[in-house]
Amino acid sequence: MIVDVHVHLGELGRHFQKWWMDELYGGFPNVPDREVRYRKDPVESLIEDLDQAGVDVACVMASDHRRPYPYGIGSSYTPNDYVAECVRKHPERFVGVCSFDPLRDPHEARKELERCVREWDMRALKLYPTYDHFDPRDERVFPIYEKAIELDLPVHFHMGYTGTINAPMKYQFPHLLDEVGIRFPEMKVIVAHMGFPWVDECLCLLMKHRHWYADIAYWGAFPPEFLIEMMKKFDFMCGYRRLLYGSENPWTATFTKTVMNLNEIAKEKGISFRISEADLRKIMGENARKLYRI
Ligand SMILES: [Zn+2]
Repeated sequence: MIVDVHVHLGELGRHFQKWWMDELYGGFPNVPDREVRYRKDPVESLIEDLDQAGVDVACVMASDHRRPYPYGIGSSYTPNDYVAECVRKHPERFVGVCSFDPLRDPHEARKELERCVREWDMRALKLYPTYDHFDPRDERVFPIYEKAIELDLPVHFHMGYTGTINAPMKYQFPHLLDEVGIRFPEMKVIVAHMGFPWVDECLCLLMKHRHWYADIAYWGAFPPEFLIEMMKKFDFMCGYRRLLYGSENPWTATFTKTVMNLNEIAKEKGISFRISEADLRKIMGENARKLYRI
């Protein structure tokens, strides 16, 4: 079974504006389909992408980035209710991942987390420190971590680069999660994007907090050599049982093939690298199945 742990939901004009996507993906010359989030029926199109990629289950995420854009240019907000509705339509293909801006209303956020798990069986919480302008070490977020532990829910943090201009870099460094891990050792954490470009920092984080995971979403934006070099280090330092396959939307239809063919790509390029079938199965689905209870 192949599981993609990193897919966003939302409709153009309803949940986000065009400028939002332009900022996100404008920095890369090799985005396979820049229009991917502008499709008329994004959910059905996503199912087609998953079919094309051979992905069985996608973990589909909500987001709430309204607070940093109070000045009327539109924001990005995909509510949990919408994600729940999409999962209801495709229960075999989607697993719901809830999200909220933890500083918008911390008390409400705690209740919302409980509702998402109990009512809609959502399997993880996604938090976006840089997009939502908060430091994950902020004490106002701690009650949410406590609730996630109580519910045994993994917390997926966006760490690392984004092209979004109004997303401060000071909240992107993976090391910000270290103190969170020290204070909340029982919390299950997934670091998104391997914290790119602070990959070594992310590796150190995972070497300390040995039950944490990372995903490789967004790495479809780079030449596969980058991924191979990172994976060599990851295997040596953390072991593949803690790496998760994720795509990020413009690469959902295409990235699976790259990762599945890494041995061939390495051979072609004369790079010394080999990953076993068993390890590949862990990254492509087995690890996620355990973590997200799929
Ligand atoms: Zn993402």
